Amino acid sequence: MDIHEYQAKELLAEFGVPIPKGGLAYSPEQAAYRAREIGGSRWVVKAQIHSGGRGKAGGIKLCEDSHAVWRAAEDLLGKRLVTGQTGPRGKVVYRLYVEEAKTLAREFYLGFVLDRVSERIMVVASSAGGMDIEEIARSKPESLVRAVVEPAVGMQAFQAREIAFKLGFDSGQITDAVKTILGCYRAFRDLDATMVEINPLAVTSEGRLLALDAKTTFDDTALFRRAHISELRDKSQEDPRETRAADRGLAYVGLDGQIGCIINGAGLAMATMDMIKLAGGEPANFLDIGGGATPERVTKAFNLVLSDERVEAILVNIFAGINRCDWVAEGVVQAYHNAKVDVPLVVRLAGTNVEEGRAILAQSGLPIIAADNLAEAAERAVAAWKRNAAEALARGPRQARESH
Ligand code: GDP
Ligand code: MN
Repeated sequence: MDIHEYQAKELLAEFGVPIPKGGLAYSPEQAAYRAREIGGSRWVVKAQIHSGGRGKAGGIKLCEDSHAVWRAAEDLLGKRLVTGQTGPRGKVVYRLYVEEAKTLAREFYLGFVLDRVSERIMVVASSAGGMDIEEIARSKPESLVRAVVEPAVGMQAFQAREIAFKLGFDSGQITDAVKTILGCYRAFRDLDATMVEINPLAVTSEGRLLALDAKTTFDDTALFRRAHISELRDKSQEDPRETRAADRGLAYVGLDGQIGCIINGAGLAMATMDMIKLAGGEPANFLDIGGGATPERVTKAFNLVLSDERVEAILVNIFAGINRCDWVAEGVVQAYHNAKVDVPLVVRLAGTNVEEGRAILAQSGLPIIAADNLAEAAERAVAAWKRNAAEALARGPRQARESH
């Protein structure tokens, strides 16, 4: 789960990371009020969306007076910002963060990630902050400092000092840099984060160290024990299809194609998506209904896939080990009636009780296209989608599907 910059800053501040004075605003009036409350004579108005790269996309505005703050807020609120990370649909700005603006002398990068190779928390830092880490790795690889943390002892002060010295902080900033590095590490560990990033970690013209931007991502599977973190979730920043799926306990990723997929097992889902592409189609989603797919769960999956306007054919691909094909088949038949399936449906079953499952589908009298193997299933789904699209074109504009 991602959270907003201002939320990440508030959390990190509790671990001793120095942040600028700032305040949240939902309206231009509130933004101007925040600026007065903060004091000073220059402010930055920052769009709060779950994405980096806001600066380049016009989402960060430097303001010289409170009128400018008002105008910046008016301009940003309700706007759909498209950054290098949001995808073409972008994200809508509903919240702003107003901060005192600082004159920057230097910008650093400080990131904590889970390194799967060493199976450790890894610190990646650079004296060339401000630009994103991919760009640093490309253009200034010599500036990168890396260190892994031994889990048995946690990050040690000497390790943080070593990183701070390697980055080239002046003696006046070393203490704050060490405090920041250790604070980020503790936040990462204590809050079950999978990523903590400060970019830029700036040194101001007065020589003060400040985290000017912060991003944290949390481990979804640990959220149950972090109530104060899960409360920070902002559904307005998520793909609505994925939000609906998460609320129903389904593993789902929304994509832009036309073939809706209902599959058990992430590996099979990936393979099926590949086969759809090979057959000339594009998947509309990744959906893993998991083991123990009861008829109710299958119905939920159908409702979810059908609620996506993009879907023009559905492919169900089940390899039943823990699952039972007859149960899944019953689920498909029930879902067909309950969810008003109005697109071609291809079903491929294999594994436990496959004969019973196929018999249920055949006897249902429903126009379900059966397939024996994965390649055939993908080809039939793509063919059915193309046929349906051609017929729809001949029929004229289709009525919008009811949402479920
Ligand atoms: P991002 O583009 O989404 O990563 O948003 P940031 O919060 O990192 O802001 C983009 C850039 O704006 C930063 O890299 C800084 O160079 C600049 N910036 C942000 N806050 C300030 C500030 O208070 N003063 C100055 N001078 N620049 C700032
Ligand atoms: Mn940034």
